[in-house]
Amino acid sequence: MKKNDVDYAKFVMDGLDIMVPEPRCELEHRTPFELLVAVILSAQCTDKRVNQVTQELFKTHNTPKDFAQIPLQELEEKIHSCGFYHNKAKAIKSASQDILNRFHGEVPDNFDDLLTLAGVGRKTANVVMAVAFGGDALAVDTHVARVSNRLGLVKTSEPLKIELELCKIFPKNKWSKLHYQMVLFGRYTCKAMKPDCENCVFNRTCPSSRI
Ligand code: SF4
Repeated sequence: MKKNDVDYAKFVMDGLDIMVPEPRCELEHRTPFELLVAVILSAQCTDKRVNQVTQELFKTHNTPKDFAQIPLQELEEKIHSCGFYHNKAKAIKSASQDILNRFHGEVPDNFDDLLTLAGVGRKTANVVMAVAFGGDALAVDTHVARVSNRLGLVKTSEPLKIELELCKIFPKNKWSKLHYQMVLFGRYTCKAMKPDCENCVFNRTCPSSRI
């Protein structure tokens, strides 16, 4: 079976349905805007840590206006434990200002407009599209990149190339589900340091299997 043919794509989807039957976003949020903030905070940080930070943060600040007005230093202190707090605080404030100025205070519900927000890249825009608005989007984070390479679906570390290749291989209506399946599969089974190949449904076919 070639690693990029339709049968292999079906095989991977079936396997992920077994490994991750109920994929979901683990970032806690109540609105598209809260999700946007949480996704910005999640870069190079665990969802668990982000949830701890946002649980407190969203008690006092949860709208674009709140974040546009909060002094940069105060925001940095509040999100400090998520890492890269200086860049993340700037990104959150810039995106909030953009949403207020150009989108009447509402997070835009299409990918192209999301991508125009200061501080918002493809991964963030794709996650917000898929989770907040139910769109078909396949965001590529570190887990998706690792899993898709290990399974032989792609052979590149560049997120944009991975996204475009995966979108060619898999049906559009499966993109969002596959994103979260690969994220959770990578987080709990196909881990970066010690993949749990013994308990992986792909262990007899995966080119990276360690058993
Ligand atoms: S067999 Fe191992 S390396 Fe391959 S997908 Fe499963 S956990 Fe990852």
